[in-house]
Amino acid sequence: MLRIKRVPTIVSNYQKEEGEEGACRVGCGRNCLNTCCLQGAKLPLYAFKRVNKCGNRGGSSAEEYKEPPVAFLDSLIIGEWEDRVQKGLFRYDVTACETKVIPGNYGFIAQLNEGRHLKKRPTEFRVDKVLQPFDGSKFNFTKVGQEEVLFQFKASEEDEIHFFPDASIDVGNSPSVVAINVSPIEYGHVLLIPHVLECLPQRIDHESFLLALYMAAEAGSPYFRLGYNSLGAFATINHLHFQAYYLAVPFPIEKASTRKVMNLDDGVEISELLGYPVRGLVFEGLCTLEDLSTAVSDACICLQNSNIPYNVLISDSGRRVFLLPQCYAERQALGEVSPELLDTQVNPAVWEISGHMVLKRKEDYEEASEEKAWRLLAEVSLSEERFKEVKDIIFDAVSSAANENELISQNDQEHHTNQESGTHNNGSSAALVSHECLVLH
Ligand SMILES: [Zn+2]
Repeated sequence: MLRIKRVPTIVSNYQKEEGEEGACRVGCGRNCLNTCCLQGAKLPLYAFKRVNKCGNRGGSSAEEYKEPPVAFLDSLIIGEWEDRVQKGLFRYDVTACETKVIPGNYGFIAQLNEGRHLKKRPTEFRVDKVLQPFDGSKFNFTKVGQEEVLFQFKASEEDEIHFFPDASIDVGNSPSVVAINVSPIEYGHVLLIPHVLECLPQRIDHESFLLALYMAAEAGSPYFRLGYNSLGAFATINHLHFQAYYLAVPFPIEKASTRKVMNLDDGVEISELLGYPVRGLVFEGLCTLEDLSTAVSDACICLQNSNIPYNVLISDSGRRVFLLPQCYAERQALGEVSPELLDTQVNPAVWEISGHMVLKRKEDYEEASEEKAWRLLAEVSLSEERFKEVKDIIFDAVSSAANENELISQNDQEHHTNQESGTHNNGSSAALVSHECLVLH
C-alpha cells in the first residue's frame, strides 16, 4: 500500500482533525447540510436551461435569446462569495496573496500563499487507489455549514433559466450545490458538489461531469474554469466535488500547442499536448456539450477502473477539456521525487499542472522561474512510454463506448419510429447508460 504524508487543505470551516468530530445527530445545532438540519432550510436555487449548446459556438443561431433572471457568474457566484467574505468565513484574504506571471515563454503564474497550509498536521493519504468507498466518518460535504453554501444548481425543468432566492431543499432528490472553499487560491474559488446528500465518492460519472460542463457553459466566461483531482492525484476529500475559480489570464496549458490524434464520429476531437511538461489529452470539437461530456467521462471512468490517477481542467466555457493522467504521488511514495522538490511542499493538483503554481514558501516565490516550474511538472507527467499505454487504454474506451452509443441511439430511433403515432416518449435514458471500461490485458 502506498501512502504519502501531506497537510490537507481545509476547504470548510467544519473540517477538523480526524476523530475530533462527533457524528451529526438530529438537530446537531451546527446548521449543517445533513438531513439533521435541512428540515425547513432554504437556499437560493439556480436552474439552468438544458440547451445542448454546441462545443464551438455553432448550432442554431436562430435560437432566441432571453436575458437570464440573474447574471450567473457576476451576480451570483461573485456576489454570494463577497457576502461570505463580509461574514468572515474565509481563513485568509486571498486578494492579499502576492501573484506574478513568471517571465518566459509559457507565462506560468506563481502565487505566494502562506496561509493555506497553516495550523494543520500532516495526514497520511493512500495514493495507490483511485477508487475508494465513501467513508461517512471522515470529513465530507454534508458536514459543512449552510452558510458556506452559495446556491443549489440544477437543470431547469422547463425550457428556461430560473432563479429562486429562497428555495426549499428537496432532500429526496439530493440537490447539487455550489459552496465556498474557505482556503481559496483565487477570487471566487468555489466547489461544485453533485447530489451532495447522495455521498458519492470522488469518482467521475457521466451525469456529474455533464453538470460540471453545464456550469462552465453557464458561467460563460473564459476566465472561469473548473478542475477535478482524482484520488491519488491530490484530491484530499473522498466526496465527489469539482473546484472552480476565476483567473483573468490564460493558463499556460491553454496556450500549449496540440496535435490531433483521434476524431470520434460525433464530432469530438482528441488531441495531444505538445511541448508542455505534463503529457495529456485535449477534448474539444464541433460537437454538443453532451457528446463532449460523454467522451471525457468515458475516458475518466476507464482511467479510474484502471487505477490511473488523473486531473481534469474544464476551460473555454466548457468547450475544451484537458485530461492529465499523473504519477507524482506514486513517485513521492516510492521515494523517487527529489528532496529539493519535496521541500517546496507543492502539491501538483489540477491548478498547478495547468500552470498556476501555488507556493507556500517566500523563497520559492521569489526564486520562481520557468525552469523550476517545468522541473516540478515534468515529475508529475507520465513517461512517454507509459503515456502511450495509457492513451491506448483511453482510445479503446472512447471508441468502443462511441460504437455502443451509436447502437443505442439506433435502437432508440427505431423505438421512437415505432412509437411515433402513439404516446410521446420523453425518456432520454440512452445518453445516461454507463459504460464500463473494457478489461485490457
Ligand atoms: Zn446537522
